Amino acid sequence: MKPDDHRSMREMLGAFALGHLSAAQETGVRAHLDGCADCRRDLAEISPLAHELGLVDVNRISATPTPSPDLGHRIQAAIAGERRHRDQVTRRRRVVLAAAAVAALLLVGGAGIEMGKQIDGPPVAVAPIEPVAVQSRLDSVQASAGLVAHTWGTEIKLEAVGLRSGSSYAVEVMTDDGRTRSAGAFVGTGGQVMNCNLNTDVLRPDATGFRVVDERGRAVLTADL
Ligand SMILES: [Zn+2]
Repeated sequence: MKPDDHRSMREMLGAFALGHLSAAQETGVRAHLDGCADCRRDLAEISPLAHELGLVDVNRISATPTPSPDLGHRIQAAIAGERRHRDQVTRRRRVVLAAAAVAALLLVGGAGIEMGKQIDGPPVAVAPIEPVAVQSRLDSVQASAGLVAHTWGTEIKLEAVGLRSGSSYAVEVMTDDGRTRSAGAFVGTGGQVMNCNLNTDVLRPDATGFRVVDERGRAVLTADL
C-alpha cells in the first residue's frame, strides 16, 4: 500500500460516507478499507458526522470551533473531500454546457436540412430554415428572415437593424384565405442587430406573406412567401 494511496483514500472518506462518490471511486475506497485499519477507524468516526454534513451548507462551516483538534481535522478532511467532489460535478456540468453550446452553434449556421445530435441521445432531424427575402420600406432599415415550418404553425426568424430603439413593432402573417394573424411583437433595437423568433399559428402552406408594422400602423418590412 503506497502512502499516497492511503492519503487520497482518506481524503475521500467524507464523500464516501455521504454517498457522493462515483461507483468506481466507491469500489476503490471499499478495497482500500479492507486492508487499512486506520481508514476504517476514520470512517467509523466520520460516519456519524456525515449525516449532519449532508444537511448543512459546507461553505458555512470553515472555522467552527470544535471539541478536539482531531475532530476538527476530520471534519475538514470530510469537507475537503466533499468540496473536491462538488468541483468534479461542476466540471462535468461545464463540459455538458460547452457541448450544448457547440451543438447550438452548429444548428444556427446556414440553411437547408441540418442534423442535430442530442447529447447522450439518438440523432434528431432539425427542421430546415427556408430563407425569405424581406423588403424594407425605409432606407435606414435592413432585414432578412428565415421560416421554419412546424406542426403547430410557422416560426419567423427575423434579423433586423435600424428599427427605432424603444419603439414597438407588431408582426402579422397573411394567409391564402385573406386573414391576417398575429405573430407577436418586439421592440426595435436601433443600430444593434436584432435577432427575434416570432411564432404564429398559421401553418406554412397557408401563409402567403408577413409584415412588420410600426406603432403608427405603417408596414416597415414586408415579405411575400
Ligand atoms: Zn488508509
